[in-house]
Amino acid sequence: TNLRVGLLFGGRSGEHQVSISSARAIAQALRKEQNASKYKIQPVYIQQNGYWLGGEVAQEVLESGIPYLEVENMQPWRSLAEVAEVDVWFPILHGPNGEDGTIQGLLTLMQIPFVGSGVLGSALGMDKIAMKMAFEQAGLPQVKYKGLTRAQVWSNPCVFPKLCDEIESALNYPCFVKPANLGSSVGIAKVRSRSELEAALDHAASYDRRLIVEAGVVARELECAILGNDQTKASVVGEITFDSDFYDYETKYTAGKADLHIPAQIPDAVSQQIQDMALQAFAAVDAAGLARVDFFYVEATGEILINEINTLPGFTATSMYPQLWAYSGIPFPELVDRLIQLALERYPIDS
Ligand code: ADP
Ligand code: MG
Ligand code: MG
Repeated sequence: TNLRVGLLFGGRSGEHQVSISSARAIAQALRKEQNASKYKIQPVYIQQNGYWLGGEVAQEVLESGIPYLEVENMQPWRSLAEVAEVDVWFPILHGPNGEDGTIQGLLTLMQIPFVGSGVLGSALGMDKIAMKMAFEQAGLPQVKYKGLTRAQVWSNPCVFPKLCDEIESALNYPCFVKPANLGSSVGIAKVRSRSELEAALDHAASYDRRLIVEAGVVARELECAILGNDQTKASVVGEITFDSDFYDYETKYTAGKADLHIPAQIPDAVSQQIQDMALQAFAAVDAAGLARVDFFYVEATGEILINEINTLPGFTATSMYPQLWAYSGIPFPELVDRLIQLALERYPIDS
């Protein structure tokens, strides 16, 4: 009998639509001949407002790619009855409430295996301050940064200037102000002056209780995909190029604004070092199954700095993660199959 794969998609974050696209690509891969005899898709759609829907509606969103929002008679987790019908979950949700350990906690409590990192790996991978602390412990080089809270930013007006002074003297301009727990560059600003810094801190504080400010670097952006649980493998290294000031939301999601280059045109030694660092980063946050690890390569000095790990990276047919593996010899349908097998291998979840 076929293994029932609970494809969990949509979600409450700003990356709702990306999640639908990722789920559609995964569904298509599960319908390919070599997978169709092994797996049966059980779609579960989380609306933008957080309500869960299974059955025909979820199926319809998966087929059409169009978000759905039923307003009346809603109950959260309405489709939990269908949970018993699932043998393994494939959560393909990006950002808060999906990539951050919350869903992973629920699935752990359900005692059903799931694809990807557990609670700790997901949470550490999502929070940029906690992530950087874990990388620091592992000895991975990264930009200088300072973690802050919303309370500090919105504190009494006598304290705020001191905070800005500290940031200026520690990090200089330009620096990057970010909400600590987001993705897709949402809420991120590159700032070049005191007034921009003040505005950016205020803006980022409206997204998250925790904020991070980082020294800006001028660098090429390289990415490496990891696959595995305890025995992990790194893909070839890819590069993202674009014309905009930085890799912001618009550049990420407007067709034609950014280009992927696989493999990146970099010296072998650089690519090997990035693969090593990506494997270390994966272990440092206790990730599992998959992750995409992103780097800054300062060509002028040869420095390689880790930027971040994404434990549920974009997974559409044109996304970097599956493309890196396709180039490294694992086609999309096989990648999906391997990820499900890695989920089963890890069960029962031991963390
Ligand atoms: P997200 O998790 O939203 O992708 P990132 O930390 O990766 O957030 O930042 C998004 C983009 O902003 C990066 O891909 C890069 O273009 C730019 N950026 C972020 N931090 C820095 C930095 N310290 N120096 C230079 N560019 C940066
Ligand atoms: Mg990210
Ligand atoms: Mg990023």
